[in-house]
Amino acid sequence: MAENQGLTPRAQDFSAWYNEAIMRAELADYSPVRGCMVIRPNGYAIWELMQRALDDMFKATGHRNAYFPLFIPQSFLQKEAEHVEGFAPEVALVTHAGGKELEEPLVVRPTSETIIYDSFAKWIHSYRDLPLLINQWCNIVRWEMRTRLFLRTTEFLWQEGHTAHADEADAEAEVRRMLGVYRRFAEEWMAMPVITGVKTDSEKFAGALRTYAIEGLMQDNKSLQAGTSHALGQNFAKAFGVQFQTAAGGLDFVWSTSWGVSTRLIGGLIMTHGDDVGIICPPRLAPTQVVVVPIYKSDTEREAVLQVSDGVVQELRTAGVRVELDAREGMKPGAKYYEWEGRGVPLRLEIGPKDVAKGQVFAARRTGGKAPIPLEGLAVSVQHALAEIQRTLFDTARERRDAATRRDVSKDDLIAMMAGPGGFAYAGFCGDVACETAIKDATKATVRVIPDEEFRSPTPPARCVWCGRPATSEAVWAKAY
Ligand SMILES: [Zn+2]
Repeated sequence: MAENQGLTPRAQDFSAWYNEAIMRAELADYSPVRGCMVIRPNGYAIWELMQRALDDMFKATGHRNAYFPLFIPQSFLQKEAEHVEGFAPEVALVTHAGGKELEEPLVVRPTSETIIYDSFAKWIHSYRDLPLLINQWCNIVRWEMRTRLFLRTTEFLWQEGHTAHADEADAEAEVRRMLGVYRRFAEEWMAMPVITGVKTDSEKFAGALRTYAIEGLMQDNKSLQAGTSHALGQNFAKAFGVQFQTAAGGLDFVWSTSWGVSTRLIGGLIMTHGDDVGIICPPRLAPTQVVVVPIYKSDTEREAVLQVSDGVVQELRTAGVRVELDAREGMKPGAKYYEWEGRGVPLRLEIGPKDVAKGQVFAARRTGGKAPIPLEGLAVSVQHALAEIQRTLFDTARERRDAATRRDVSKDDLIAMMAGPGGFAYAGFCGDVACETAIKDATKATVRVIPDEEFRSPTPPARCVWCGRPATSEAVWAKAY
């Protein structure tokens, strides 16, 4: 691995490192509007790859894309009591337009349930119209007090799925299916291991019956809620009159769901894999997977080296590898390496006169390790190396997460852990919001999820970690973004 060339080390100040890594990779910039963010081409390219992969997965599970307006009549938000209470503090309101005061102020969408159900009420008449499976890619505005690039910004990009179903079982299956899609995307594309489970009532989405989430543990041992999937029950359907004729001939309200992930995922990618040199892109989401750097001194060398380099780029491009040739003149190879490392490009191929003579390229992995690769069968070798880097990133992240996870912790353990290294703390929970609040006040940790069976401890804890009363479930605590 390349040595540190100027970023604040993660161990010294993770948050400073995070901002510097983003600047060095040219992913984003601060905006003239406080709390907003400019996503630069290098960052947007990662988002486009995320979108493409997720969009394919949404379509493969039967969803179709649509688009609903940015502006929502204020009265819409007020139709669902919990929803308005939850979102009111962070809503931006348009009161004037076209040079005069509006009759009804318009909310800049903080999420689109309300305006989408207004349409659903018009579109859904019979059980034959169900399930209705819609997704929207858009921007969202939530007036945040404390913002961080990608993690929490006043305006961000996301997708929101909104579906309507004839009964609770079908809606629940959808909520679970999409949580599974998010988990698969996090693990197989981002190489970010996550735990899944249900949120406590105090952490659930405003207006939902239940909220499920994927949670990843970042390198500073804080948890990132990376995606959520909500069972909305019939709450919104009743508020917006989304009724349908049942197969039996009766009238019922639909059961609905919503689910979303956002540009926050880019923050998760950075904090899962970056090192003191900068970001590391998992190959499947790397806008540039391979950079080819020709090395030469004389004109004769230059000609031979560039000829081989061009051939390598052609071959890799034909094989579907996202490859760049860095043939900039008047720039030392070391300076080029520095730039591409900071951008997190997973694989660099150096080609010098000696490599040309030997019929090879010299490969340097962003995750560490250098070795020659023969030109013969190069595309296959490169694809193999990229797959290996992707796997290594996931395995390393999972080992780190597991090493920072402790099970069956005591009250003292929990306090010490959250005052010290952080991490995922598994313990018994009585389910009482009073304990949840007391723990948050004492440790700053929140219940990230009541974990799904796969993640639970083999022996369920008998007592609540805080009050000692019988536990109703096991819960996972961590400090969170
Ligand atoms: Zn308790």
